[in-house]
Order: sequence, then C-alpha cells, then structure tokens
Amino acid sequence: MEYDFDVAVIGSGVGGLCAGALLARRGYRTLLTESLDRWGGRFSTVEENGFLLPTGAILLHRNGPLEAVFKEVGVEFEVVNLPKTLHCRIEGKDYPMRLNNPLSLIDVAADLEISRGGLVRLGGSLAREIGKKRVLKAFGKGVEDPLGGGSNLTFREWLMQYTDNEVVHKVFDAIIVGVLACRSWELPASQFFYYMTRLGSLADAGVAPKGNVRLVQGLVDAVREKGEAWLNSPARRIVVKRGSARGVVVEREGREVEVSCRAVISDTGPKRTVELAGSDNFDDRYLREVRMRLRAGPAMLILVGSDRPVLPEGAPFLLIVGARRLVVGGELAILCPGLAPPGKHLSYYCGYPLNSLLPMEVEWEEIQCRRDLEEHFPDIKEHGEILRMEAHDVDSELPGARAWPGYDMPPETPIRNLYNVGEGVRAPGWSGTNKAAQTAIEVAHTVSKVLG
Ligand SMILES: Cc1cc2nc3c(=O)[nH]c(=O)nc-3n(C[C@H](O)[C@H](O)[C@H](O)COP(=O)(O)OP(=O)(O)OC[C@H]3O[C@@H](n4cnc5c(N)ncnc54)[C@H](O)[C@@H]3O)c2cc1C
Repeated sequence: MEYDFDVAVIGSGVGGLCAGALLARRGYRTLLTESLDRWGGRFSTVEENGFLLPTGAILLHRNGPLEAVFKEVGVEFEVVNLPKTLHCRIEGKDYPMRLNNPLSLIDVAADLEISRGGLVRLGGSLAREIGKKRVLKAFGKGVEDPLGGGSNLTFREWLMQYTDNEVVHKVFDAIIVGVLACRSWELPASQFFYYMTRLGSLADAGVAPKGNVRLVQGLVDAVREKGEAWLNSPARRIVVKRGSARGVVVEREGREVEVSCRAVISDTGPKRTVELAGSDNFDDRYLREVRMRLRAGPAMLILVGSDRPVLPEGAPFLLIVGARRLVVGGELAILCPGLAPPGKHLSYYCGYPLNSLLPMEVEWEEIQCRRDLEEHFPDIKEHGEILRMEAHDVDSELPGARAWPGYDMPPETPIRNLYNVGEGVRAPGWSGTNKAAQTAIEVAHTVSKVLG
C-alpha cells in the first residue's frame, strides 16, 4: 500500500470533519479525503464578488454536540448570537417568538383565528384558552414520552386530535419544515417531540461571522496535526476483505492511490457508502433498509445581495408562516458585517416544496419562491439581486437533509470497521449540524474502543 493510516474518513462534511478531528486529537493517524475543491460540504462558504455565501447551514446552535467537538479538539467556535427573540410572520404581521419557546405562537395563532370569527361561535376567548391548554398539555405529554400516544401518527394527524385551527397547523408546519426539511403531514409526531426535548438547551443560535469555512478550517488543521487532509480527492472504492473494511482507493492528482487503514468512516451518506463498498458486501436486509427507510428532504437556498436591508428593521430573522414555499429568512450582514462587501447587505431565505418524498420540479419551485420573495420582501426588486438560488433536491449530492428524522440509518454497517457519520445517520432529537456532529462523537467513541 502507498499510504497507511489508522483511520480513513471519506468526505469533509460536518460529520466527517468532527470524526476526523476527534480521532486525530486522540492520537490516531487519520486521513480526511474530500472530492470537492473546498472543505465542509453543506457547512461551508464560497466567496462571490466580496460576499461570503453559505453552502447550507446558517444558524449554528451553541451548547450542543457541534460546540462540544470544537471544545474537545481545542478550536474556537466563533459564532455571533442571534437576538433571543426572533419574529414570526403570520398573515403579513410580524410577532415576537422566543427561540426556546416557539409554542408561544399558539397564542398568536388562536388570537388570529378568533379575530376572523373562527372560534367566536364556540365562546370566544374562553374557548381559545381551553383549546390552547389542550394543545399545550398534549404537547407536554408528547415531549415527556415521544413514543407514547402519537407514535404512529404524522404530526399533523396528532395535532388534529386537539385542534383543526389551520393557523396553528401552519405555524407548526413552518417550524417543522424549517428545521427538519420535511412537512408536518410527513413527519412522525414522535420525531418532532424528540426534537423539542433538545430545543430548550439550544436556545442560543448564532452565525459564524467569517463564514462556516473559517470554523471548518480549524477542524481540518486539527486533522493535519496527526494525519493528512486531501482536497480534490474522491474516494472511488472502499476496500473490504473478509467482511472487514481495510482501506480506501482514492483518486488523487489524476491517478488512483491505495490507502490501507484499520477503520473507514464515510460521511457520504449510507447510500453512497454502499456503492463505494460494493453492494455484494451487504446483506439483503441492510440493502432493503437503505432503499426503503432513507428519505432525504429537499430545500431551496436563496441568497440575496442588496444595498440596504430588505427584511424589516424590527424583525431581521423571520419564520414565515403560510407562504407558498418560503419558511425562513434573515439579514446575515446586519449580524455579521464581514459576510458582505462594505456598504452591502446579504440576506438568506429557505423555501421548501409541499412534498418532501419526490424530487422537485425545480423550475416550478423557483417560480413559487420568487413569488413569495416579491410579496414578502418587495424591496429586493429595487435594491437587491438574487445572487444564488440553489435547489438541494432529495436526489442531489447535497440535499436539504440527507434523511428525515427517524428515516435514517444506524452508524454501524454489516461490514466490520466501516461506519457512517453525518446527517443520514440516527441521532434522535438532533438536527442539521448538531445531528452530524453527534453521530461523529458516537462513531469516534466506538472507533477509539475498537482500535484501542
Ligand atoms: C439550504 C440548507 C440550509 C441548512 N440550514 C441549516 C442550519 O441553519 N443549521 C444547521 O445546523 N443545519 C442546516 N442545514 C443542514 C446542514 O448543512 C447539514 O446537516 C450538515 O452540513 C450535514 O453534514 P454531513 O456530515 O451530513 O455532510 P455533507 O454536508 O453531506 O458533506 C458530505 C461531504 O462528502 C463529500 N463526498 C461525497 N462523496 C465523496 C467521495 N466519494 N469522496 C470524498 N468526498 C466525498 C462531499 O463533497 C461533501 O463535502 C442546512 C442544509 C441546507 C442544504
């Protein structure tokens, strides 16, 4: 073999970076190999005309597994906190929302429904109080015991048991699709409860002031202290011998090189891992699970440059309820001026199709997002330009989410010493970058034990 390492990590998304940095810090000779010409996958930054544009993740939560990894490897987790109160736009009006208590929106939703006469016939504010209490009580029970009453229901079905107030349904749908990339009528209720059990401790969300790539570079440096990190180097094959992962074949500088190692960690998603290791090496049950269970989620990411802020001054970070597609938007350069060139502003928006199972009709989704932008943020037309509108489709290399919560795979595979990390891997209650980091923590722990 031309190269010899303890561990080879394929892919430098959050999961791969965190696993690689943790293992390198623990003394294992680690190779991190990445097919693109930049690190970080959906947790990175590309520079365009002086704007630092995110490639996916934007809001990073403190106090979770992601920050824990940075602490353990001794890399600064530089994040500027969002204001504690964000806003939620419902029917054109912006309401304050505490990040750690989005349920306060039930009040607003119930008020709206009353003002439209929906509940007046049931007794006005009294009915509203009773309705709200029923929803909150049931919700509290769900969070205490996620697999209790609602386990076979979608979240929408679960909520229908307590209210058919469409505004309440739309509020929950926006929260769910905004963080989990699938709709309230698709997600099992239990998975949203799991997520809510973690949310309280994750109230502090923020944005990386120099772009995610700056954070990523710290983790890459940590890998390099005890190993190597290669860009433009796609793994072409995982070498499996007698049921055990023994190495990786990587394309590097125009030729294939062989790397031997004692454990392989793949951050490419469980489907791609199977392709790399060869489906013949997996049993039918596992292959069926990968085909049937894994469900990616789609998302549209829209980045707008402008010569003045386009979100309202009092509500620069918004959850948008009931729009065609747009669900979140935020003024990034107000919080982190370094993300835009002097005198310019950068805002982002995420939109989601109504169906998360099937590939998007991208042109149609773009039209819907543009219509939402025009309606909600008319200043963009005169003062801004869309810098990027990216479809992260269910079948693309870098989807909105690699798996809906509960539709993911365990980190272990039927092949000894071959593990998956990243967002397609199970970590109940976590989402996005924290989910990917949590899987890396677990796999790094297992690999350290196995390798000794
Ligand atoms: C629009 C959008 C908005 C988001 N917003 C947020 C947010 O605000 N907060 C949050 O926490 N999360 C957010 N997320 C989710 C977050 O980006 C992901 O959860 C996280 O980045 C996933 O990391 P991962 O470990 O799964 O790796 P990925 O990002 O999937 O990266 C995988 C890496 O593997 C590489 N690779 C693939 N095949 C090979 C190969 N054969 N050889 C070598 N390398 C290979 C790829 O090039 C890539 O770099 C968002 C995602 C999107 C798309």
